[in-house]
Amino acid sequence: MQAAAPSVSRRLLARLRDVMAGSGTAEERLDKVVHLIAADMVAEVCSCYVLRAGEVLELFATEGLKKSAVHKTRLRVGEGLVGDIAAHARPLALADAQSHPNFAYRPETGEEIYHSLMGVPIIRGGRVAGVLVVQNRTMRHYSDEEIETLETVAMVLAELVASGELVALEELVPVDGNALLPVRLEGARLNGGVGIGVAVPLHRRITIRRLVAEDPEAEQARLRTALTAIKSALDELFERPEMRDGEHRDVLETYRMFTEDKGWLGRIAEAIRSGLTAEAAVQKVNDDMRARMSQITDPYLRERMHDFEDLANRLLQHLSGDDDPNGGNDLPDDTILIARTMGPMDLFDYDHRKLRGLVLEEGSPTMHVAIVARALDIPVVGRCKDGLERIEPFDTVIVDGDNAQVLVRPSEDIRDAFAEAVAQRQLRRADYARLKDLPAVTRDGVGVQLLMNAGLLLDMQHLHDSGADGIGLYRTELPFMARSSLPDVAAQTHLYHKILDQAEGRPVTFRTLDVGGDKILPYWNPYEEDNPALGWRSIRITLDRPMVMRHQLRALLRAAAGRHLRVMFPMIAEVAELVQARRILDLEIEHERAAGHPLPDLVEVGTMLEVPALAFQIDALLPLVDFISVGSNDLAQFLFAVDRGNPRISERYDPLAPGMLAFIKNLAERCDAGGVPLSVCGEMAGRPLEAMALIAVGVRRLSVAGPSIGPVKTMVRSLNVAAANAYLDGLLKSPDRSLRDKLKAFAIDHGVVL
Ligand code: PEP
Ligand code: MG
Repeated sequence: MQAAAPSVSRRLLARLRDVMAGSGTAEERLDKVVHLIAADMVAEVCSCYVLRAGEVLELFATEGLKKSAVHKTRLRVGEGLVGDIAAHARPLALADAQSHPNFAYRPETGEEIYHSLMGVPIIRGGRVAGVLVVQNRTMRHYSDEEIETLETVAMVLAELVASGELVALEELVPVDGNALLPVRLEGARLNGGVGIGVAVPLHRRITIRRLVAEDPEAEQARLRTALTAIKSALDELFERPEMRDGEHRDVLETYRMFTEDKGWLGRIAEAIRSGLTAEAAVQKVNDDMRARMSQITDPYLRERMHDFEDLANRLLQHLSGDDDPNGGNDLPDDTILIARTMGPMDLFDYDHRKLRGLVLEEGSPTMHVAIVARALDIPVVGRCKDGLERIEPFDTVIVDGDNAQVLVRPSEDIRDAFAEAVAQRQLRRADYARLKDLPAVTRDGVGVQLLMNAGLLLDMQHLHDSGADGIGLYRTELPFMARSSLPDVAAQTHLYHKILDQAEGRPVTFRTLDVGGDKILPYWNPYEEDNPALGWRSIRITLDRPMVMRHQLRALLRAAAGRHLRVMFPMIAEVAELVQARRILDLEIEHERAAGHPLPDLVEVGTMLEVPALAFQIDALLPLVDFISVGSNDLAQFLFAVDRGNPRISERYDPLAPGMLAFIKNLAERCDAGGVPLSVCGEMAGRPLEAMALIAVGVRRLSVAGPSIGPVKTMVRSLNVAAANAYLDGLLKSPDRSLRDKLKAFAIDHGVVL
């Protein structure tokens, strides 16, 4: 009988519409509505509760319960089943409602004789405005279709509640956000960290008042003026001290080039010639672009399109004289910006000392605004669906970039807990700063080398704050991804030179270009692949395009002239690939020598171990390398055959599985015997518990993100390696899926600080 439900709902809706449009006061209409629903849904009771000030749900109309209870029965949000529906903003359908732990019996209603209950929230503008309930005497099992029908009816009722006829509008408008329910939105981590503040939605809706122009020349001139204004704003930006260096500067330089893009400007000029005003022409070209954008699946091309869209928006603001639709710097002191997307320039429109976080409905970690946010240390959660709709202006919002979540209107407890966590984090930072110059030596005297991972020039500042021993992994691809074209040898040399200068003599391990998979360069057409993680990526690309590799190696050799150069090749799956890569390096050294360029004092060559097959050639590999670094992110991906980017399965296997640890232990032993230093540079090395396990299986070098140096060093200094090693050894043959709990218990019992 499933097919009957929609027609019931349609019939009911038609009748409801008649009642709503009919005569009588709002309460009289509501009485009729509950009567209709009860009859239509064959329920003995139908009641409507409306949310009043102070988070109280008041019975406003009922069919079946005692009429004298109307306006008397009141429940707090969270109290009883009705309160529970409101608190969680989700439906409940219970055949035996009275046995539910939240059932709260209200004697004045006479509801004790009804056994089953189905209720749905009445939601308006993302907030609960009331609850609609039906009850039956029998133990009735309500179907999903019946729940849907009741939800549809609740939508109609929401309009009546919002009209202000039942409850004064002032009661409906949240004064301080308390009347709204907390919401947790999930997204993607675009930049880590936690920020707490007040929501400032960024709506870019510009109304074009004049569409048709008389004088195309005048419109062209207006367009030129607007473009000049944007360019000079960009020029001013480039003058700022924080723009001196770094990839965010590259991002904005690329953006500036768009202001001169001939194709795009040509299309706008053509639209102006056809008789449109400058703003209408920009809008038209942008609309065409958006239509095309919806068909483009490649994220990088989409991002470039976003930059154009952002530019179009800026032009429209200038042309419509609405330069500052969001009040610019008139921001609350702790601001969380909420936007569909943002262009690379946008963050600079605001006083970034007031920005605590950013929530975007779209976005990817490599999008330009994410790179800029990273430079400004602003936490960002992207791909936050319906963020603009679900977050109201001035809501309290917590942007938890670390866990890719946004907490909207959090309860006081949650807010306090996060504020405490932010404060604790600052305190811990101070503790870590004090540890900075102390050695990473365990309680039983084992030294651990703590290195740092970096990928942007701005990461280098952590090298000094954290006291890391050097850079164990410099991901060279990030600057390539921030630019609009392949950087030439001179640009690369300049960058690597600066990195080495900033390292002030500490070792820096440069990993050669590791693109492909999920890291695609905007200027290289991505190659369609079914399995990009297993596809044409990393060393496979650079061995196939040796000039790219040669230019990078040339730049590295030049930057390190007279100094020490460490080069590491990524994604090596077999020794033959390493031999080939080394040969290219030797060729390049010869080339430089022949050209009379000074060379580094010492060149050390290493490989990433990310593909398990390479470990099975360890005897052939060891004599060819000066060091090996385990990329545990990719290694886990390939050991468990689990896509690291697929949230559905990426958490399915634990790197603390006995199999993974046994693999690394074996590797550590073989490297130790062969006299080749082994490090681990994937994310697991930066988590204290995982780092403890790695040290216990014999790893003595860890390369971790800058902020993880302090926590890992604290762990190291509280660890007894011999005890951890003995404990873990007994567990490596265990059939358990993960040793996490046991390792945690060990840490607690042995005073290891995690
Ligand atoms: C790894 O795979 O663990 C690694 C360090 O490389 P990336 O995360 O850059 O692929
Ligand atoms: Mg990798």
